[in-house]
Amino acid sequence: MTAVVELSGVTKHYPGGVAALRGVDLLIEAGELTAIVGPSGSGKSTLLHMIGTLDRPSEGSVRIAGHDVAALSDRELSALRARHIGFVFQQFHLAAGVSALDNVADGLLYHGVSLRERRDRAGRALERVGLGKRTGHRPNQLSGGEQQRVAVARAVVGDPDLLLADEPTGNLDSAAGAEVLRLLGDLHGAGTTVAIITHDMEIAAWAPRQVRMRDGRIVTGERLVEAGVPVR
Ligand code: ADP
Repeated sequence: MTAVVELSGVTKHYPGGVAALRGVDLLIEAGELTAIVGPSGSGKSTLLHMIGTLDRPSEGSVRIAGHDVAALSDRELSALRARHIGFVFQQFHLAAGVSALDNVADGLLYHGVSLRERRDRAGRALERVGLGKRTGHRPNQLSGGEQQRVAVARAVVGDPDLLLADEPTGNLDSAAGAEVLRLLGDLHGAGTTVAIITHDMEIAAWAPRQVRMRDGRIVTGERLVEAGVPVR
């Protein structure tokens, strides 16, 4: 079976800077829920850029859903991203003045389906995140937690191989944050592969697998025997 994420010997140098990643090997298989955790400056964002194919490594190889990033042009990389990876960011990144339905439908822009089908599927994705009654609401008519659930619906509406979440609860109060984590846990339970990048040790402890970063390296990546502890 093909790994969803396969990083081998990945190093990243920024111009004039030290190495942000130093020989990272990481395998994420289909169906896993992984927290990538580490203090500020440890290389998490850089790793997110590598896994999300938003940037290319200086050395080493990155394969996403079996595709070698080095073999693809920038245009092909955008297509890979649109089809295989759903992104959730700390800042939601929803289009202002646009309904929840159309924000989610935009997640299918590169899937070659009609507007009608995009909206049908967006409606179902919003039902899935518990917002079936808010489809006509605009971002400024929704709470932070609801906005992040819209962003999650947009990320999964195209059924990506990987849901990649960058500090998804960073802008939320603890109750809304717990709800978003529960949603990510439910999606994982239904088979979605999820990777969460966070500096929050509590989120890391909740995830079934932790990958710990320090100084551009992964210090541990073992799967824990026990499944995640419930979020309170
Ligand atoms: P984290 O997300 O864990 O805070 P980063 O991946 O942002 O870590 O940063 C890792 C290291 O790379 C840090 O030393 C940071 O200063 C450096 N770095 C990150 N982005 C850039 C950049 N665009 N240019 C130069 N150095 C950078």
